[in-house]
Amino acid sequence: MKQRISCIAIIYVLVTSLLIGFSNRLPAQNYEEKRQELVERHLVDPPHGVSINDTRVIEAMKTVPRHRFVPTSVRDQAYRNKPLPIGHGQTISQPFIVGLMTELLDPDTGARILEIGTGSGYQAAVLSEVDASVYSIEIIPELADSARDDLSEAGYDDVTVKQGDGYFGWKEYAPFDGIIVTAAPSSIPPPLMNQLKPGGRLVIPVGPQFRRQQLMTVTKQEDGTFKKRSVMPVRFVPFRRSNGQ
Ligand code: SAH
Repeated sequence: MKQRISCIAIIYVLVTSLLIGFSNRLPAQNYEEKRQELVERHLVDPPHGVSINDTRVIEAMKTVPRHRFVPTSVRDQAYRNKPLPIGHGQTISQPFIVGLMTELLDPDTGARILEIGTGSGYQAAVLSEVDASVYSIEIIPELADSARDDLSEAGYDDVTVKQGDGYFGWKEYAPFDGIIVTAAPSSIPPPLMNQLKPGGRLVIPVGPQFRRQQLMTVTKQEDGTFKKRSVMPVRFVPFRRSNGQ
């Protein structure tokens, strides 16, 4: 009886791994088709009506291989419009939100952009695809390392990733034309506002942990004052601090 159960268990494990292996190795063309479909259906002409109109952003989202930035266990879901786990309790954002934040940031060609929360590296790749020069900070060392590898393997060599607490921005490369934050602090970190160029824009979710937050834009005016705008309610992972707060 015991032998029979272990035999069944072995067969189950073999079949499951074969199936998972198969779904992870969808032909590139299949991924390509799914990606085009996702962008058309959820960004260009979404059911909720908020569409992405910037053609550079649409092209970038149609180009960046999101499946190469997610763990193999969820690769078959890479072209669904939803966030996915990337390990360490973190998630890669929903494609619509990545498109929206990129559009809100609206980087000119060659703009110097700071990203806080590299995560998988996907948002950084999209920014690089719209010809921004990207500096990205990730607080979890393992994620910083794997994002650096995945970005480089996908050909995005021009993204500079460092491990650290993004609360303080990145003085060495400041000021920035734009700053994008992909984790939600309860209030906007002042160093990030200070590291914006006049005319530059910060795109950031702000609000309580694991509850509804507001996606906001903060534009630094030429006279050094700031103009804030609430865009829409969102839900992001919490902004962490190196001191554990
Ligand atoms: N832009 C990412 C989204 C990752 S989720 C992507 O495209 O995949 C947000 C990330 O922010 C997580 O990886 C988390 O570890 C990181 N993070 C949270 N607080 C941070 C901080 N203070 N400094 C830098 N990274 C932070």
